[in-house]
Amino acid sequence: MVGALCGVGAFVAGAGRLVAGRRHPLYSERDAVGRAYLVSMTDLITRSFPLFRFKGIQVLMHWSFLLLLAWVLITTLGTGKGLQHAGFQLGAVLIVFACVVLHEFGHALTALHYGVRTRSILLLPIGGVATLERMPEEPRQELMITLAGPAVNLVIASIVGMILWLAGSIPNVSIMTESPSSLFTLGIFLLSVNVVLFLFNLVPAFPMDGGRILRSILAMNMDRVKATRIAGRIGVFFALGFVLAAFKWGDPMLGLIGVFVYLGASAETRLVQEQRALRDVRVREVMRTKFWSMPATATVQDALAELLAGGDHTLVVMRDGDFSHLLTREELIAVPAAERHERSLGVLNGAKPPGVEPDAWMRTVHEKLMTGSWALLPVLERDKLIGVLELDNLAEYISIHEPAQST
Ligand SMILES: [Zn+2]
Repeated sequence: MVGALCGVGAFVAGAGRLVAGRRHPLYSERDAVGRAYLVSMTDLITRSFPLFRFKGIQVLMHWSFLLLLAWVLITTLGTGKGLQHAGFQLGAVLIVFACVVLHEFGHALTALHYGVRTRSILLLPIGGVATLERMPEEPRQELMITLAGPAVNLVIASIVGMILWLAGSIPNVSIMTESPSSLFTLGIFLLSVNVVLFLFNLVPAFPMDGGRILRSILAMNMDRVKATRIAGRIGVFFALGFVLAAFKWGDPMLGLIGVFVYLGASAETRLVQEQRALRDVRVREVMRTKFWSMPATATVQDALAELLAGGDHTLVVMRDGDFSHLLTREELIAVPAAERHERSLGVLNGAKPPGVEPDAWMRTVHEKLMTGSWALLPVLERDKLIGVLELDNLAEYISIHEPAQST
């Protein structure tokens, strides 16, 4: 079990936004109950709690981590070995995840060295995920950031191994005589956890560390998109292997890691293809000139009526002919029914994303759209709104302009 708990120390670069930004195809646009259900489900899936912050990097714990702790507690108590044994088991899980956090900080602090910030480190039952604001396109930098994670585990394993070796060869050392068995067991446990974390993360299952290392080495010798496609395919192959092994050995954690790797490999391959397709394109060529907008003086009721008639996901609110702010349909629906007739769109607090210029290069704006918390960016020419940029229509632009990938 501990082997699976050691899990994956993967990290992602903006890929989460890409998936989150797309509209969910499974629910009807007009089904308010279904929509509310989906919003609350998404909220449930994404909810996490802040643990601490170091060097500006927020460490979060996903709620399902509590399920893992509860599960460990219940299964150990179920064996009838008592509370003390259960305490040891919980302690073991916490030690594993402390090592995972150190591993992720290895990635995050190396990224910081190259000027790339890390938005968060999230602890999941299957391991840790560091979300970098972007991944440097320079293969050598990506290689260093990736190697830094497993390197942390290698350093811990070496130090612990050295101490164990010294302690074993000097039997009279004081720490060994005080409580030899438990300290020695703890040392062996720390050593094995870090060896497993080191080896498991080097499996070349993109976007796990080993796969990223493979991608950067390939990218040093060929086109980055092609390198990603090859690493992604190998990643998908390993993902299927993990899922099959999970069924064979009855290990659900391995299955979850397989799903994670599969989704990550697909999302990151798409991300790199999008970045490439948008490299030499200006905002003006991609922006949407038809979008849903209403004046600030209109009421929420007016907006909801338009939403039913076929409105978009995001409403652009205009004040005196100029861009004011954005309102999502969730924000509109959240206004209590009794207030919808009186409240104007101008008094509602909505997001005010920064404007982009129509002649800016998409490669710089794409990153802003991927890493920011905005679903849509206004395109302003001499402070006048002439269009909007959305992730959805970027994907459409690419599918229209990019020739089909054959390899
Ligand atoms: Zn890692």
